[in-house]
This record gives sequence, structure tokens and C-alpha cells, in this order.
Amino acid sequence: MEDMIKSFVLDCLNDVSITVETDEIGNLFITKGEAETYPCVAAHLDEIHSPCERQVITEGDKVYTVDRLWNRVGCGADDKNGLWIIINLLHSVPVMKASLFVQEERDGDIAGCRGSHQCNLRWFNDVKYILQCDRKGCSDVVSIGKMDTILCDPDFIPGDLLEKYGYEMVRGGKTDVVELKMRGLKIPVCNLSCGYYDAHKNSEYTIFPQLKNCLNFVLEIIETQN
Ligand SMILES: [Zn+2]
Repeated sequence: MEDMIKSFVLDCLNDVSITVETDEIGNLFITKGEAETYPCVAAHLDEIHSPCERQVITEGDKVYTVDRLWNRVGCGADDKNGLWIIINLLHSVPVMKASLFVQEERDGDIAGCRGSHQCNLRWFNDVKYILQCDRKGCSDVVSIGKMDTILCDPDFIPGDLLEKYGYEMVRGGKTDVVELKMRGLKIPVCNLSCGYYDAHKNSEYTIFPQLKNCLNFVLEIIETQN
């Protein structure tokens, strides 16, 4: 499953000049352009739903998927939305990094965030900050993660920028950037709402304009945060 989504993502990027590195567990680390320091955007490659043939249905602003019998099945927007944002960013931002983690989701009794737990933190030595796009809804910037893990300062994103895109700083749960902070990563990170709802359920869906709003928000953070 992760192999399929990896090839899909890389196919979408075959017209962009990037360097792709991988590690033993299978994370993808992408670099575009050359600089002393980079902004970095993160997402996870896996999803909770088992593979099946899915048809994408668009109903106004809402996007979801059905199986062959037209039963709703989870569309994997958690975290395909994050991957969509990264693909779009890599087409327009001249200098950036992206980290695409495997095995973020918990698998029965096996804990999640295995890709981010095992990756080499040294890859982030020239990274200024990491914006992960892996949060439900449309308005959260998670700045404090699971177990009170501080992800970034409350003013990491200026108030006027938050207001412009309808976001606010909140407390949230666990995802890869939280794991990286728990492992001692020093740079600021946060996790942004990227327009998905009902994650991990058959009724999962995306509100597409909210996903696009997240992309524009990330673009403006990258353009203005030096
Ligand atoms: Zn997720």
C-alpha cells in the first residue's frame, strides 16, 4: 500500500527537479533547490483503510469515495491531503524540503509514528521549521501536542496570518512532528488542519476549498517566515 502511494507521489513529481532520499524503514526525504536552511513540510504516506477499488465522488465542495457497490469507504484523506499539499508546494516553491513518513497510523497493538520514530534526525539539521499537514478540520495549528509536548512558540505564526486564513493555535494529539519533538528535535514544528473530517471512518471526506486554503496558508508561511 505504501509502495503504491510512494510511486504515485513520485510520478506526480517527475516534472520537478528534486532529490529523493530514503531510509531503512522507507520514509521519503525530498529536497528541492539549494540553500543553507530550508522550510520543511511533512505528511504521512500510510492510511488506516485497507486497499480496495475506490471511486471518487465530488458533491459540491465535498469529496469522498465509494466502493464498487457504492458503499461509502474511507477515502484516506488522512493523510492524502497532506501529500496533495506537498505535491503542489514542490511544483511552486523554489527551495524547500519535504518529509513523507511511513507507518504513522497505529496498527492494532503496534504503536504509530514508527517512520518518524526511526528516522535520522540529522536530515533536519538544515531545516528551519516543519509544517505537518495532518490535522482534521480547517482551523487548527497544533502548537502543543500529546503529553504537553511543546511544538512551537505561540507566536510562531503571526496573528494576522492566522486571522487571514481562519486558523488558531490549539492543543492536539500525536503525529510525526510530535514524535520528532519527543525525540528531542530543537526546531519549531506544528500540525495544520488540512480539510479532512471523519478520519478513520468509512464516512471520511474532504472539503476541497478548505484543503486549498491550507495550501495557500502554508505557501504564505513559507514566503514570509525567514
Ligand atoms: Zn494522519
